Amino acid sequence: MSNQKSAFVTTSWDDVADDQAGLLDILKNHGLRGTFNVVTQWVENPKSEIDNVGVNLLREIESKGHEIASHSQSHRRLSDLQEIEAKIEIEKSKVDLERIMGHKILGIAYPYGTYDSKIVALARNAGYLYARTVREGRLDFEDQNPHELGVTIILPRAKQARRFWLYGSRGQYLFLQLRENFRWERIARKLFVKALNSQGYWHLVGHFRDILEDKTLRSSLESLLSFIADLGEGQMRPVTNAELFTPHNTRFQSTMETKTMPN
Ligand SMILES: [Zn+2]
Repeated sequence: MSNQKSAFVTTSWDDVADDQAGLLDILKNHGLRGTFNVVTQWVENPKSEIDNVGVNLLREIESKGHEIASHSQSHRRLSDLQEIEAKIEIEKSKVDLERIMGHKILGIAYPYGTYDSKIVALARNAGYLYARTVREGRLDFEDQNPHELGVTIILPRAKQARRFWLYGSRGQYLFLQLRENFRWERIARKLFVKALNSQGYWHLVGHFRDILEDKTLRSSLESLLSFIADLGEGQMRPVTNAELFTPHNTRFQSTMETKTMPN
């Protein structure tokens, strides 16, 4: 085993909707890859309250080296549902996504990150290789239950930042939002350094809609990813969520690749 610093780096993007070209470019610019979690009832459904998710977009995401995974059928809290309903949400979203994409779907992200032991069993039995939660602070994945995969850090929600608007003038709102984003980014950087030093993993979760709606958040994300691309050069391995669990991902390779993404 080498003493070389190395880390797996992955990102997750929930609630895939249209107009997220900005995010694909950001990831490409920094040589990073990710998993895009799709609510299957939102696919090709113009009546949906949120934007229609086009099949072409899903194909485009995949063609850029990313993974398409499930985020359930209708984005309800799975642990609040009757077991039979939860089972359908978990199983049918997989079947539908497999039909749309024409191949096996390996992962699911629990909506709102809520789950319990019954949900974990349902995800495993449905044939998912892994299931992602929103439990933060994890710097390794190998000691985790793959159907309760925790993450390293969550990108702050634009809506959460906007909450400060209620408490002050416009100036105060902007100030607080900047400060919050700064602190978040600083923690994310520290965790990446820790992941590198411990030969661990760094996993960022976000909602790309928030990035498009919130310019401060977007620039904060770009600055973070630049930091990671620079510091991690030659030492990190950018992967999708599923690739963490697939055998070709040998951890201690003598040459770590940084640019594994096709155009
Ligand atoms: Zn979601």
